Amino acid sequence: MSPNQAKPENSPHILVLGMGGTIAGLAPNPGDQPLRYEAGQVEVKSLLTHIESAVPEGVKLVSQQVANINSRNLTEALLSDLGEVVRASLANPAVLGLVITHGTDTIEETGIFLQLTCGNYAQILGKRVILTGAMLPSNAPQADGPSNLLDAIRWASTPLENCPGGIYAVMDGRGCMAMDLAKRHGSALNAPIQASPSSSVGLINPSWLWGVKAKEAAWKEDLPIPKGDEWPWVEILTSHAGARSETIALWLNSQVKGLVLAGSGMGGFHDAWRDTLVTAVKKGVALVRTTRTGAGATLTDIPEKDLDGCLASGTLSGPRARIALQLALNAEKQAQLAGKSLTWQDFFARIAVLPEIR
Ligand code: ASP
Repeated sequence: MSPNQAKPENSPHILVLGMGGTIAGLAPNPGDQPLRYEAGQVEVKSLLTHIESAVPEGVKLVSQQVANINSRNLTEALLSDLGEVVRASLANPAVLGLVITHGTDTIEETGIFLQLTCGNYAQILGKRVILTGAMLPSNAPQADGPSNLLDAIRWASTPLENCPGGIYAVMDGRGCMAMDLAKRHGSALNAPIQASPSSSVGLINPSWLWGVKAKEAAWKEDLPIPKGDEWPWVEILTSHAGARSETIALWLNSQVKGLVLAGSGMGGFHDAWRDTLVTAVKKGVALVRTTRTGAGATLTDIPEKDLDGCLASGTLSGPRARIALQLALNAEKQAQLAGKSLTWQDFFARIAVLPEIR
């Protein structure tokens, strides 16, 4: 139990975990335009008191503050903490479902992380974990946090029926798989919703909401959560006009374990990188390529043959491919410690291909 959780609650409840973000933000002058504010100021307990009267009857809420940060400062150690809390809470029979209030800047990373490490467990237990956030601070006149939080609580607490357990997200009245949520606009109220071709994203209403299909949540096996200080170092490098071989060479004498190449178009990178990347692969650096365009899949050997040792990331964006590669490298390490000869490529390929077929 975290020091922030007063006492264990044994009656059935929805657990609301606070991570901070704009949903917990405060503006010194809430009427200003454009609005200046600080994220991660208000405790999740207090966010709940503001919506108390609208919570569906019979739904008991318990809160736990895991962090209270601006999510641009999210760390890998915090992801590990969150993952452990989510797993332990899913295992608790008194927890019927979970809601996580989170900053939208890096909600994309947390969504894929929770899917890959807790998605299968949530599905087996038939419990829903719903991520949400806000684009306006909690004291703004048109604050969107309360309605997002209420939607998330309703979704987490509704009996199973058509919507299986899994890791989901809700923003601006729309719901999707958490691994498909991404911020694609700096300020718009619906910025963190990205409709992916493989995900049902739709307006939240009682008849639709539970229609996210079971097969879309299918996830066969969770990956291990790395210990907070054992995440492999992986960087994202963007290919662009005028790219230089030095951009890759600089990493060759570092402890970096993997590079995600955010390529142009279909995920191609500048020829100036090629020879140095070949050297990187020989040195054991894991390579993955994705597209910097923000949409579309990156496919093996399309449009040209891939560099040996470099995997295509499917529909994973750069930030998601980075988390996936870190988890795949960690899974390889754990598998080898257990005497299994699985490689990061085995784990990564499974992650990159599955979103296409789920
Ligand atoms: N910078 C904020 C955060 O990610 C933005 C937000 O929550 O919308 O914490």
